[in-house]
Amino acid sequence: MGRSVLVTGGNRGIGLAIARDLAEQGHRVAVTHRGSGAPEGLFGVQADVTDVEQVDAAFKLVEEHQGPVEVLVSNAGLTDDTLLMRMSEEQFERVVNANLTGAFRVAKRASRGMLRARWGRFVFISSVVGLSGSAGQANYAASKAGLVGFARSLARELGSRNITANVVAPGFVHTDMTDALPEDRRKEILASVPSGRYAEPAEIAAAVRYLSSDEAGYVNGAVLPVDGGLGLGH
Ligand code: NDP
Repeated sequence: MGRSVLVTGGNRGIGLAIARDLAEQGHRVAVTHRGSGAPEGLFGVQADVTDVEQVDAAFKLVEEHQGPVEVLVSNAGLTDDTLLMRMSEEQFERVVNANLTGAFRVAKRASRGMLRARWGRFVFISSVVGLSGSAGQANYAASKAGLVGFARSLARELGSRNITANVVAPGFVHTDMTDALPEDRRKEILASVPSGRYAEPAEIAAAVRYLSSDEAGYVNGAVLPVDGGLGLGH
C-alpha cells in the first residue's frame, strides 16, 4: 500500500509533479499549500514552512489521515532576486527562512516518526545555483547551498537507522518561477545548457522517485543534479 509521503509546496510546479508521480507509484501522498487548496486526488494541508506551529499542525493532520510521514520531500521555495548592493537584510532572511530554515522545520518534525519506524527518506530540492552561485541571487544560492550541508548532516546523524537524506539539484525547469524571467534572460540561459532545453517537472520527479524508493537505500548524502549538464563538474 505504499509509503506515507509529504511534499511541501506540492500544490503546484515541481512539487505537484513530484506528488502526482509518487501517488501514481501507489504511495499515500499529502501536499502542503498556503491557502490555494490541494489539487484533486491529493490530500492537502495548509502550512507556511516559516511557521513552526503551522508545520506541526499540518503533520498532525497528515499523521491522522495516512500515518507518520515516511518520505519527506522538502520542495517549498521562493526567490527574491537583486544584486548584493541592493539586497536588504529582510530580503536575505526571508529567502533563507523559507528555503533553508523551512526545510529544517519540516525535517525535524518528520524525523520523529522516521526514528520510531527506523526507516525514512528525506529529499531536499536544492538548485544548480546552490553549487555554482548566481549573480543577483546571493540569498537564494546561499539557501540552496545550505541544504547540501544540512542533508549531509542528517545522513550522518540518522544513517544507521535506515534513514537517508539526499538532495536533488535541478537546473532550469518549466514552471511559474522560470516563466517569470524576461525573454532575453531565458535565451541566455538556454545557450548555456548542454541539453539545449529546459527540464519538464516530471524529469525532476523521476529523480525524487528513485531517491525515495527502497532500492535507493544505500544512496545517502548525495547531490543529484538534474540540470541538462548546466552545472557540469559539480
Ligand atoms: P513555484 O514558484 O512554481 O512553486 C513554489 C512552491 O513553493 C509553491 O507551492 C509555493 O506555495 C511554495 N512555497 C513558497 N514559499 C513557501 C512557504 N513559505 N511555505 C510553504 N510553501 C511555500 O516553484 P517551482 O515549482 O519552480 O520550484 C519548486 C522548488 O524547486 C523550489 O524550491 C525551487 O527553488 C526549486 N527549483 C526550481 C527551479 C526552476 O527552474 N523552476 C530550478 C531549481 C530549483 P504557494 O502556492 O502557496 O505559493
